[in-house]
Amino acid sequence: MNVLVVGAGIAGAVTARRLAEENGHHVLIVEKRDHIGGYCYDYRSEEGILVHKYGPHIFRTQSKKVWDYLSRFTQWHDYQHKVLANVNGHFYPMPINLDTVNRFLGTNYSSKEAEEFFARSRTASGTIHSVKDVIESQIGPEFYHAFFEGYTEKQWGAPCEQLPAEIVARIPIRSGRDDRYFIHKYQAMPKDGYTQMIRRILDHPNIHVLLNTDYRQIKDLGGFSHIYCSAPIDEYYDYRYGRLPYRGVRFEFFTLPCKQYQPVAVVNYPNNYDYTRITEFKHFYINNTKNTVIAKEYPGGGTLEPSYPIPTEENKELYQKYSRLADEATTFIGRLGEYRYYSIDQIVESILGMELV
Ligand code: UDP
Repeated sequence: MNVLVVGAGIAGAVTARRLAEENGHHVLIVEKRDHIGGYCYDYRSEEGILVHKYGPHIFRTQSKKVWDYLSRFTQWHDYQHKVLANVNGHFYPMPINLDTVNRFLGTNYSSKEAEEFFARSRTASGTIHSVKDVIESQIGPEFYHAFFEGYTEKQWGAPCEQLPAEIVARIPIRSGRDDRYFIHKYQAMPKDGYTQMIRRILDHPNIHVLLNTDYRQIKDLGGFSHIYCSAPIDEYYDYRYGRLPYRGVRFEFFTLPCKQYQPVAVVNYPNNYDYTRITEFKHFYINNTKNTVIAKEYPGGGTLEPSYPIPTEENKELYQKYSRLADEATTFIGRLGEYRYYSIDQIVESILGMELV
């Protein structure tokens, strides 16, 4: 084995595959968990429903290159993601669209009238730094307060005034009636799930995966010409500059004796409860099961496993300081290694564009 890859998630898997297939390297992947797949890991419930252990992962991309690459390892199940926000007991389409506006205000606006409403409501903002700035400058305080403020503060554990606008950049505001969460050209779920797709990416004679293993025991053995690490960079360098902040999420799973619990896969609860959203997994695929599986998602910090980097300027600077410790034989990859709020396709795109050893 001449190259070490830390972590068997999507970043580690695509890196290992490229190293093995394109450059003929022998790759050892060390994974601390007892399964491959990282945060994309999914498994089948007793009735065969694919459950995402670490929260809903919905694949979308604009990149044909990414789509074609992953299509080597999976077939796809057509799926257009829909999300509702539950505000004061009523369901509203999320992202905010014309129907959200009309239902929330009790109006019958056309798209043009909705745009005029937002133009009247939005607050003038000189410079846009925070989540509050960016949302209020598009739709005004009323909609910001009902749909964004509570959710964002629960999710990120800080006031919206202190959180960077980029964390909501992926959520559009629409004056039309499209109620899909994403409008990307390619949207689908891997037909047999993410774990199976990643298993096939790793299925190469030059790739060896070691589960239940702490990479720190392995890397210190030496002998690797290069290390690609998808573990948190601050942990890799023993927190020598202090901890990089991350948010984690705790999930509560329930199997319920009903065919369907909620109308769509994900319902957000911006203002009530400690959880941010409930996912009902059977909506992702076709499932005619008697029961259903749902998960409530409770964000937190502290002892929870890091899953969301918090991309404030201060944290990015600390990341940069850590990244300057990396020598020529060490590369950090993926959401935790690069400290970026990446989606799956962005990770794959970045790995496919990387010049490898
Ligand atoms: N967000 C919000 N209200 C919502 C949905 C999203 O305020 O109903 C904000 C929130 O800050 C969230 C971010 O938009 O963290 C990104 O949302 P997304 O659904 O993409 O989150 P992810 O699936 O990555 O957790």
